[in-house]
Amino acid sequence: MSRDYDFARARLVQSLRAGGIRDERVLAAIGAVPRHRFVSGSYLLSQAYGDYALPIGHQQTISQPWVVARMTELLDLGPEHKVLEIGTGSGYQTAILARLARFVFSMERIGDLARQAIARIRELGLTNVKIQVFDGTVGWSEVAPFDRILVTAAAAGRVPPPLVEQLRDGGVLVVPEGDRRRQHLVRYVKRGEEVEREVGESVVFVPLVGRHGYRPEDAVAER
Ligand code: SAH
Repeated sequence: MSRDYDFARARLVQSLRAGGIRDERVLAAIGAVPRHRFVSGSYLLSQAYGDYALPIGHQQTISQPWVVARMTELLDLGPEHKVLEIGTGSGYQTAILARLARFVFSMERIGDLARQAIARIRELGLTNVKIQVFDGTVGWSEVAPFDRILVTAAAAGRVPPPLVEQLRDGGVLVVPEGDRRRQHLVRYVKRGEEVEREVGESVVFVPLVGRHGYRPEDAVAER
C-alpha cells in the first residue's frame, strides 16, 4: 500500500516537472509529503495523487498539486523564512511550506478543518508550524512581520491590506486575486514604500471569507 503511494507520488512529481515546475526544492517537498494523509475516505484515497483539487468537507477543497507547486515556487522560500499562510484547509500546503521554511504560521476560519490539519501535521512530526482558528484577512499582527505570505483562498478583488502591511521589506506575498469564479495568481514584492505587483496564471479557488474578504453569505450563494 505504502509502496503504491510512493509510486503515485513519484509520478505526480514527474507530471509537475513536465507541467513547467522548475524549482527542485519544491518538487522534492511534494515528493516527500504524503498527500493521501490529507484527504479522507477510501474513494478519495485512490485519487490522492491526481493533479486536481478534492473536497475536504465544509464546502472547501485541498488545492490542485500543480497550483500548490506553482504558488510555492513563486514564494521563493528559504530555510530562514518566517511564513504566514491564510487558509490552512487540509494542511497539505502547510506541510510543504514547513519543509522549506523556518516556521509557518497558518490561519483557518473553520475550526474543524484546523483541528484535523493540526493532527496531521503533528503525525508527520513537523514541529515548526502553528495553526490558529481566526479570520486571516486581518493577518497575525502579534507575530508579524513575515518574510513570505501565502493566501490559499480567492481574495475579493485585491489582497487584504493588513497582509501587505505585515510583509517584511523585501518580502514576497502570493495571492489569488479576481472574482468568485476565476482568479489569477498575483505575486507582490515589498520594496520600501513601493510594492511591485506581477500577475501570473489563471486559477480557481474557494472564496476568502472575512473582514477584508467576502461575506459568508456571498461565498455560499455562488456555490
Ligand atoms: N491550502 C489548502 C486550501 C484550502 S481551501 C489546502 O490545500 O488544503 C481554502 C481554505 O481557506 C478553506 O479551508 C477556507 O475555510 C479557508 N479560509 C477562507 N477564508 C479564510 C479566512 N479569512 N481566514 C482563514 N481561512 C480562510
